[in-house]
Amino acid sequence: MIRFEQVGKVYADGTTAVDGLSFEVAEGELVTLVGPSGCGKTTTMMMVNRLIEPTTGRILVDGSDIATVDPVELRRRIGYVIQQVGLFPHRTVLDNTATVPALLGWKRARARARAAELLELVGLDPAVYGGRYPAQLSGGQRQRVGVARALAADPPVLLMDEPFGAVDPVVRERLQNEFLALQSAVRKTILMVTHDIEEAVRMGDRIAVYGQGRIEQLDTPRAVLGTP
Ligand code: ADP
Ligand code: ADP
Repeated sequence: MIRFEQVGKVYADGTTAVDGLSFEVAEGELVTLVGPSGCGKTTTMMMVNRLIEPTTGRILVDGSDIATVDPVELRRRIGYVIQQVGLFPHRTVLDNTATVPALLGWKRARARARAAELLELVGLDPAVYGGRYPAQLSGGQRQRVGVARALAADPPVLLMDEPFGAVDPVVRERLQNEFLALQSAVRKTILMVTHDIEEAVRMGDRIAVYGQGRIEQLDTPRAVLGTP
């Protein structure tokens, strides 16, 4: 579903962020990228939605080279969740959630109905929370809106960068469990960056363990932990 072929990224200042990455994420699989700060995890992920362009190699999503895919179409195919959720502060929760459908030109009523459905799915009653502004939510609730927004246009691929990093450990564990339950229903193809090995183990079907600019091991949590 996502395929990296000899992908490298050298930034303008000469920093090599990743080098010769080749790996695949299967349809419906959740791969966690784990490793110390600065080893290239975020760069890897942001090349998939073309927020960063690779210097060498290519990335295929669902068989097509993303360099040839229209940017709006790429938005439809790939949802993105980040730690600092980046909700629009002057838009309601419902309008925030409907962002991508609106960009894709859906009719307003359909986009809002879809947004309400997604809020429901992530455990926020749209009748209660839909009309609120982001500042009127707790951190955990904002993360949920971030997930709802990323899923609104039903993209087959989801990129998640420390999606549960900004909340306290108790809320984090609850969000992780809820997300796993959601994932078992929606089966997205997911790359998830984390620096938390526990999160990587708990959430990943497989774990990509990063060293400097490359993947040193890509295997199941069991194999990575060395348990029989
Ligand atoms: P991680 O997500 O694992 O923390 P990153 O992918 O953010 O790692 O960064 C990988 C390397 O690339 C680091 O050395 C980082 O300093 C460098 N880097 C990231 N973004 C830029 C940039 N815009 N310009 C130059 N170097 C960058
Ligand atoms: P969560 O476990 O999802 O992080 P919290 O325990 O932080 O939720 O919040 C509990 C309740 O307080 C929530 O129902 C939320 O709506 C409400 N709440 C939190 N922060 C605010 C705020 N700034 N304005 C209005 N309501 C808030």
